[in-house]
Amino acid sequence: MSETFDLVVIGAGPAGLAAAAQAAELGLSAVVVDEQPEPGGQIYRAVERATKGPAAAALGADYAHGRQVVEAFRRSGAAYRPGLQVWQVEPSGEVLASDGQRSVAFAGRRALVAVGATERPVPIPGWTLPGVMGVGAGQILLKSSGMVPAGETWVVGSGPLPLLYMQQIIAAGGRIAGYIDTTPAANGFLAAPHLSAALRNLPYLRKGLKLRGALRRSGIPGHRADAVEAAGDGRVERVRFRSGGTWHEKPCDLLLLHEGVVPNVHVTMAIGCAHEWDERQECFRPRLDEWGCTDIAAILVAGDCGGIEGARAAEARGRLVALGAAASLGRIDDATRDRMARPLRRELRRHLPIRPFLDTLFRPRRGLTAPADAVIACRCESVTAGQVRETVRIGAVGPNQAKSFIRCGMGPCQGRMCGLTVTGIIAEATGRTPAEVGFFRIRPPLKPLTLGELAALGEDSGT
Ligand SMILES: Cc1cc2nc3c(=O)[nH]c(=O)nc-3n(C[C@H](O)[C@H](O)[C@H](O)COP(=O)(O)OP(=O)(O)OC[C@H]3O[C@@H](n4cnc5c(N)ncnc54)[C@H](O)[C@@H]3O)c2cc1C
Repeated sequence: MSETFDLVVIGAGPAGLAAAAQAAELGLSAVVVDEQPEPGGQIYRAVERATKGPAAAALGADYAHGRQVVEAFRRSGAAYRPGLQVWQVEPSGEVLASDGQRSVAFAGRRALVAVGATERPVPIPGWTLPGVMGVGAGQILLKSSGMVPAGETWVVGSGPLPLLYMQQIIAAGGRIAGYIDTTPAANGFLAAPHLSAALRNLPYLRKGLKLRGALRRSGIPGHRADAVEAAGDGRVERVRFRSGGTWHEKPCDLLLLHEGVVPNVHVTMAIGCAHEWDERQECFRPRLDEWGCTDIAAILVAGDCGGIEGARAAEARGRLVALGAAASLGRIDDATRDRMARPLRRELRRHLPIRPFLDTLFRPRRGLTAPADAVIACRCESVTAGQVRETVRIGAVGPNQAKSFIRCGMGPCQGRMCGLTVTGIIAEATGRTPAEVGFFRIRPPLKPLTLGELAALGEDSGT
């Protein structure tokens, strides 16, 4: 039996929580389904617990804002189903999820996909060695368990998240052995024309400068590099990097990589929504109108899975999508929708003008998604970049042919870790753009599922 709601929201981050709260305030029945045990999403992970614990001070004021978002959601009367991983969404709005034992179904008049972003894969030599992981994963351990790394920890990459994470680790009493900044030097010049627009969000720029200042004062050794490798016997033991044309090597126990985040498009791709290539953010994203509507009537999108805009914009987008859904379901008229949307659109105008500056400043270095032949591209199936290039030589024209030739993208992560790399390698090898090459065709189940979990659906409905 399906539970029926006006709005089924997938994702309890700022976008999903704000959308559900707004929908409930307008009298819609709404439920939020999330695989995590607590609300907050990536940025506000475990915020109800962590703001009371010792990690609170280290995580900062932006993180503390999440408490208000979660409290507003808790007060709203929207239903909440944590610990459920969504494995399929039907174009009709039906959402299928599992708690690891049994599957359940939610029938939504509208389904809102608010599944956030994932870290961009960083396929460098040695990135599959134990002891190498994403900065985001390191931050998840800090937020959810207060874990601070011990030993020689090196942070490598580009973007605000590595700076923020290092500051949080220092504030929590930890130590970072060194930071290797891979931001191409030319990005600063390319970003300069976008600076005047970015100045409209002065507090955010100030925060960035403060982070850089804190990093300088912390005494963490900083290096600029245009190539990085992890090396070791059975686990990471050394980090190697090329700076000013010379290779350097340092002892390393934990290597944390980050080259920005990209929309998590697997759900909308599996549903069959239209997507487009975002040249500035170098990623695919669903095609949306101003109310977060996709080209499939029952499927809506809000937050970073619709394009990277940050947490405050995600919150505003969530509320706008709820207003649009309420109007399309006949609960409010268009005039009310537009009036209530005005302050939210003003909010977006405050937060979005900085994006072209940030996206250009932290644009990943050339060649990141088309690594050398020996580098593993698909971790699940141990497929190298060279093997993907070989499929092109024998006639593969896109990721789906490469997948059927050598199984890249066919493992448990369903291409989350290799999708952009396989597209990048094929684009480079064939002289086409990523938009022309396209992405893997994503099929349900979105995550591995046992037959028992699947069969539980039939038990309830008697089929
Ligand atoms: C690893 C990482 C760390 C980040 N850290 C920061 C930070 O410290 N500061 C900052 O300003 N920004 C940070 N960001 C960016 C920030 O998270 C986003 O701007 C913001 O969280 C977007 O909100 P959202 O609601 O769109 O998505 P999210 O907050 O990501 O929420 C998405 C939710 O969807 C759930 N979900 C996803 N797939 C499924 C599924 N199949 N079934 C059920 N639930 C699912 C997830 O569990 C998650 O709770 C980070 C991003 C990432 C990827």
